[in-house]
Amino acid sequence: MKKDFFLFIVAVLGLSAQHEFKPLPYAYDALEPYIDAQTMQIHYEKHHKNYYNNFISCYEKFPELKQMSMIEIFKNIEKFGPKVRNNGGGYWNHEFFWDCMIPGGKAIPIGEFSALFLKTFGTLEDFKKEFKEKALNLFGSGWVWLILDKNKQLKIVTTPNQDNPYMNISSEQGIPLLALDLWEHAYYLKYQNRRGDYIDNFFNVINWEKVAENYKSASRK
Ligand code: MN
Repeated sequence: MKKDFFLFIVAVLGLSAQHEFKPLPYAYDALEPYIDAQTMQIHYEKHHKNYYNNFISCYEKFPELKQMSMIEIFKNIEKFGPKVRNNGGGYWNHEFFWDCMIPGGKAIPIGEFSALFLKTFGTLEDFKKEFKEKALNLFGSGWVWLILDKNKQLKIVTTPNQDNPYMNISSEQGIPLLALDLWEHAYYLKYQNRRGDYIDNFFNVINWEKVAENYKSASRK
């Protein structure tokens, strides 16, 4: 009874709204022809939604998840078991991924981020080559990321399954700036087994303005 009353108060205060299933920031067909509408719709409505539903179903076992930010959860992920790791990761990774893309793409804005980016990778073409290579070398399902590591350096890394670089159990840690989903469900309908073509086409829709913003907030931490 006490617990129910507590949950009622939490709901009244609006704290339960911390982890929401946000709307997709563009229409399903907005990234055509690079990412097709059917893939976007299934990816968002079925896969992403399913990770979200499974994640919030973990509130019952771990009520503290409700009040924690996703980043706090990831930094303590070993406390919560595989269901939270897989579905909390799946929920947050997709939300982050949608924001990395925009119809038509956006160029890298001139500034601190572009300076470090060029110093690290050489040209944009060199970056794409390394990003694609690492993405193709990931066996099975997972993600490829551009991160800012603890030494404030840019780095391209991959994580398996729905892990991400915020997780304290990840072999590659840092603050994500850009992500690409490498699960077959992200590209199979249009590209079948051609992961390389999917990656090449992703480069056309990257929102580099958002990536530079992510860098700005990451570099202040
Ligand atoms: Mn996915």
